[in-house]
Amino acid sequence: MEKLAKRKIRVFYYVTGFLALLALSVALSVPYFISVRKQFDMMVGESRTRIFKEKKDTLAERVERVVAEIEAIRLTVYKEYQTLAEAQCAMLSALKMSTQDIINGFDPKVTKRTTRFVLHNTGIGLAVYDRESQKILWTDEDALVPKLLVEFKRSQQGPSEEFPVWAASNLGDNRMVAIFAVREAIDNIAKSRSIAIVRSLRFSLNQYIWINGVRNYNGGADYAVRVVHPSLVGDEEVLLSTETADPAGNLPYKEELEGVLKHGSVYFTYQFNKIHSDEVTEKLAYAQLYKPFDWIICTGIHTDDMVSLVAKREADFDRAFKNQISSYAKIISIISLLYIGMMVLFERRLTSMVNIFIGKLKEDEAELRKEKNKLDDAYRELQRVAYSDFLTGLLNRRAMYERLEEEFSRAQRDGLQFCLVLADIDHFKSVNDTYGHNTGDVVLKAIAEIFRQNIHPEDSASRWGGEEFLILALSSSLKEGLVLAETLRQTVESTTIHDGDIAINTTITLGVVEYAPGKSFDALIKEADFYLYAGKKRQRNCVMSSESSGEAPLKI
Ligand code: GH3
Ligand code: MG
Ligand code: MG
Repeated sequence: MEKLAKRKIRVFYYVTGFLALLALSVALSVPYFISVRKQFDMMVGESRTRIFKEKKDTLAERVERVVAEIEAIRLTVYKEYQTLAEAQCAMLSALKMSTQDIINGFDPKVTKRTTRFVLHNTGIGLAVYDRESQKILWTDEDALVPKLLVEFKRSQQGPSEEFPVWAASNLGDNRMVAIFAVREAIDNIAKSRSIAIVRSLRFSLNQYIWINGVRNYNGGADYAVRVVHPSLVGDEEVLLSTETADPAGNLPYKEELEGVLKHGSVYFTYQFNKIHSDEVTEKLAYAQLYKPFDWIICTGIHTDDMVSLVAKREADFDRAFKNQISSYAKIISIISLLYIGMMVLFERRLTSMVNIFIGKLKEDEAELRKEKNKLDDAYRELQRVAYSDFLTGLLNRRAMYERLEEEFSRAQRDGLQFCLVLADIDHFKSVNDTYGHNTGDVVLKAIAEIFRQNIHPEDSASRWGGEEFLILALSSSLKEGLVLAETLRQTVESTTIHDGDIAINTTITLGVVEYAPGKSFDALIKEADFYLYAGKKRQRNCVMSSESSGEAPLKI
């Protein structure tokens, strides 16, 4: 029983403990998971727009950088050629060379060498001028003579609008020598250097720079020439048309030209094949106009490459999310294990405390039970003392009264029958007188023992007075009562009572009455007394009742 209760409590403890743990874990985890998921979804969304924006910005930055580089190349080439021109001019002046020597040294028709002069190129050359006659004595760029004359007449010392490379000095004899270059010639050098660099540029995700050189800003067929295109190397130098459409019907060249004319730069999308591949996908391009060369410098990225970047970033985020969740799950598991451990420890501690407590309770209970038993014993002893006769151990008069009252009400209620037998020792006074009071007591005890031995267990025997006894015989008719009385009388008569050496034979006289409905308790006792007295009067050592011959029943 106790074990079962303990088991029930333990089961309850663990079930509620686990439920609490579960509820706690769910309460802690679910909002966390939801918020982390939300955060990651947001980051993924942001990363998509960020990647697209970054890439878009990168396109513009890249083109701007290339433009800056081309500009730097252009300026460097100017500077380089100006420096060379000045150095060579100064050298010729210092040597005071004759015109003929110069012709011999520099005229390609004479020298038959293409590399005779470092600056030699179309639009780049040398001229000897005579101040007096105001004529060009010699130049290798005959087409430029009118322009050269203007410059010489102005005694131009440095670069001009017409000749961005110009160095002049005196040769003596009123002659001047000038080394010069027209803008187009220098620009062509800068262009070819730029082209070489741009063609070699490569960026991540197969990105590159291409350049279209504008021939006609109004657009139309042959509006531009393809200057650089790393993806279409064989197609460089081809002429382009603003009417050319991509597979989706876009007019990228038109859009590009109009965009750069309007804003200097433009973003546009069109369908284009990937480098070294026939796969045609959407491409986002950025174009910027570099006016000094009439170049539209472009770069682009295929949208699907950006998408794959986004997917990669998403996968990274997803991995990070899973890592975070798994770390969290680990933490929760560790906390749960600790919690369970604590629960078990606590349960053990509690159980041992409860066991100690129960042990104490049991001890106390045993102690109490002992005390109660003692009290019960004492109470029984008290009752025995209160209700039994000290000398004979039979019921005393008070106890018999209570028994009789009980029996009377029961008999009246249930219509039961019973008998009363009143017995008195004959000539008992003379026993006392003859053998002493103590021997009288021994006789009283012996007779009481005879009564005890001979009545039924449910019957009661009491010491009613000094040497008078009253017996209650239950469920007995008068006849049965008489039989009992006779048995007692004969037993006493035939018994020799010993007190040491003294042997005593004594007799008793008995009066027997039967309960009849309507008879009162006092009347019944009185009636018994009447028959006992009658017996004493007659002969003693006899049983008297209403049925005894010669004795009229008592009138009550
Ligand atoms: P009868 O045959 O008429 O009954 O004569 P009896 O002598 O028995 O009657 P009586 O009433 O004259 O005497 C009763 C005596 O019983 C008197 C008393 O001393 C004695 N007695 C009463 N109680 C006790 C007792 O507790 N112990 C002793 N030893 N004697 C007792
Ligand atoms: Mg008497
Ligand atoms: Mg007597």
